[in-house]
Amino acid sequence: MASTFSRDSKSEEERPLYEDFTNGWKPKVSYHFNEEAAQFHFGMKHPMKPFRLMLTDHLVLSYGMHNKMDWYKPRAATEDEIEQFHADEYVKFLQSVTPSTLDQFPDAPSKFNIGDDCPIFDGLYEYASICAGASVDASRKLINDQSDIAINWSGGLHHAKKFEASGFCYVNDIVLGILNLLRVYSRVLYIDIDVHHGDGVQEAFYLTDRVMTLSFHKYNGEYFPGTGSLDEIGAENGKHYSLNVPLRDGIDDESYTRLFKSILEQVLVKFRPEAIVLQCGADSLGGDRLGRFNLNIQAHAECVRFTKSFNIPLMVLGGGGYTPRNVSRLWAYETAVCLGIEPDTELPANLPFYQHFAPDYSLFPQLSGLVENHNSRGYLESVHSQVLEQLRYLNGAPSVQMQAIPPDLFGQTTEHDQQIAEARIDPDARDLTLDAKDNARQGELVEG
Ligand SMILES: [Zn+2]
Repeated sequence: MASTFSRDSKSEEERPLYEDFTNGWKPKVSYHFNEEAAQFHFGMKHPMKPFRLMLTDHLVLSYGMHNKMDWYKPRAATEDEIEQFHADEYVKFLQSVTPSTLDQFPDAPSKFNIGDDCPIFDGLYEYASICAGASVDASRKLINDQSDIAINWSGGLHHAKKFEASGFCYVNDIVLGILNLLRVYSRVLYIDIDVHHGDGVQEAFYLTDRVMTLSFHKYNGEYFPGTGSLDEIGAENGKHYSLNVPLRDGIDDESYTRLFKSILEQVLVKFRPEAIVLQCGADSLGGDRLGRFNLNIQAHAECVRFTKSFNIPLMVLGGGGYTPRNVSRLWAYETAVCLGIEPDTELPANLPFYQHFAPDYSLFPQLSGLVENHNSRGYLESVHSQVLEQLRYLNGAPSVQMQAIPPDLFGQTTEHDQQIAEARIDPDARDLTLDAKDNARQGELVEG
């Protein structure tokens, strides 16, 4: 005889795969993803695997999170949009070069930093402009008040520079997104929790007080990209508006989240941003192929939860992350955090690529303790106090006349905005042939 409390098969089928913990304020969350971004290949041995985006997408869908947010398939960024930051000559090069024509550009390695880290692969410009388009789209939804939190896991490509590629990044979607936000918001805070320094974004806004950049990263002067010391503080109008938190190998959950919260709290009090852009690079997780930290998924996501708790318009971006099965688990969980829901720890059994998550099949694999922690309490206290010392210079600063950036920075009219606006799609009505196409990619998912 069935027990009173057992569920019939129908209600079991309809049982949501998450618990809803939202109370009171419910942010409008939008998700910006063009599946095409996951289809490109940097090369077999290259650590950047765009298929991590496909895994993330499937996890988000399998948990049913798509029913709780607006889902957009963004268009690629236009050349005009990309040239709001990048040099015309560099953009033209990215558009015209292919693997077979690379030898016609003999100065590409020295001039545009093309090489092993930033190779020329088939469809490179398409890939870069699709990822950038999603951040432009996300920023637009925040500006129009259609979203409180806009998510783009294909973005966060923080190393790209005005004139050159760097660290697997070609087009800096973050800078484009922030420039768009500055059309409406007086002050934008950029936070970067990738294991690498957010150098491209820092450099872009080094001279302005309208964007504060705050980067937590591994630093020893050699680790890529080599910048991000405590004394890079900004210059001219931007002096004291670049903050760096240099860390040693192996930082653990507790020290990282404590430092993050304590510094962010002070930054919010002093800078009073009207919008926040949070780069959630997943290479700061333990067990990353390139990273050297010890963070678990819950601790990384705690930084998202804390940032979200201030109810300031928020753009949430991806970034680095080179162990794809952990990248996708992290970003799916951080999507849940944005939505205010707590997903089942066990991965949904209907997940395509389920086998890829062996042996634990858990949303929260054990990732800590793999690297020795070289951050002594004394070291962390010293970094903490030096960062807060920088903030002392900000007293009253944001209230003074700020450097003007014209409101029509992009030279676009509302009509133009509407013409190029992207379609909102019903994720349930999504083209299922894509899933079949994805399933055919099982053999590609080599993480070596
Ligand atoms: Zn990184």
